[in-house]
Amino acid sequence: MSVPVVTRFAPSPTGYLHIGGARTALFNWLFARGRGGKFLLRIEDTDRDRSTPKATAAILQGLTWLGLDWDGEAVSQFDQRDRHAQVAHEMLERGTAYKCFSTQEEIAAFRAAKEATGASYAVFQSPWRDADPATCPDAPYAIRMKAPRTGETKISDTVQGIVTVRNDQLDDMIVLRSDGTPTYMLAVVVDDHDMGVTHVIRGDDHLNNAARQQMVYDAMNWPVPVWAHIPLIHGPDGKKLSKRHGATAVGDYQAQGYPAAGMRNYLTRLGWAQGDAEVFTTEQALEMFGLEGIGRSPARLDFKKLESTCGWH
Ligand code: GLU
Repeated sequence: MSVPVVTRFAPSPTGYLHIGGARTALFNWLFARGRGGKFLLRIEDTDRDRSTPKATAAILQGLTWLGLDWDGEAVSQFDQRDRHAQVAHEMLERGTAYKCFSTQEEIAAFRAAKEATGASYAVFQSPWRDADPATCPDAPYAIRMKAPRTGETKISDTVQGIVTVRNDQLDDMIVLRSDGTPTYMLAVVVDDHDMGVTHVIRGDDHLNNAARQQMVYDAMNWPVPVWAHIPLIHGPDGKKLSKRHGATAVGDYQAQGYPAAGMRNYLTRLGWAQGDAEVFTTEQALEMFGLEGIGRSPARLDFKKLESTCGWH
């Protein structure tokens, strides 16, 4: 029996729902719903300074307008912080992480010394990695992962193929800061694991994070989800989509009276193709959508086509 598909959309509530985020949510929704699976929503609000309730409301509203319904309640990542800390301590017990007592000043000095040698990257090597616990001071500490120092980490990505990262370029990343707060890299993995996510479909700006996140899965002996990193959306000129190209907030389109069905149809075709078909009913899109149809090069947003697709409905 195969495991039911579970996907998620995990926006950081720091601004409006961007067209790129809406496309990511849509692909996750289509993939799950087309397979009788679940589509979950997680609000990544661990950055307390930048996260706002207004942004969360705008994201929920934009998804609702587009008809992208999620299963259950939206999960607040911040609310899971005790669980994140618990996993970091479990890593300590497993010996896949260690207590690091290095101060900010020591880390900065290490980097400066390394850069002075002309090294192209300066991976901090904590002196506490192999320290005898008996010699550890009674002082605040961060929990760092023991990253492999040699060899390579391979990410098998459905869209990008095999992506190889040299382990000597990955540092022993901090999973729990000395103030007890979890880092983003730990929180994402713990939440995806706990929520039973089987497929991580997101922008390829997160591809580098996947190598580090895979180390967390391995350290906990958890199954790694299927990765699918989608190329970011570009503007008509081939440059990364920004406001100077036109409206990038989903809410702007709603305010201008664009029909949600047309918008969804246009976004479905933004970076995903199935033969020559341009316009789908929701039923057709659900039936046809698959990860193999996602292109490897960035899709370009064509505002005229967006308008005409919307006019079709
Ligand atoms: N919160 C991240 C973002 O908004 C996404 C993290 C993820 O999908 O793993 O870019």
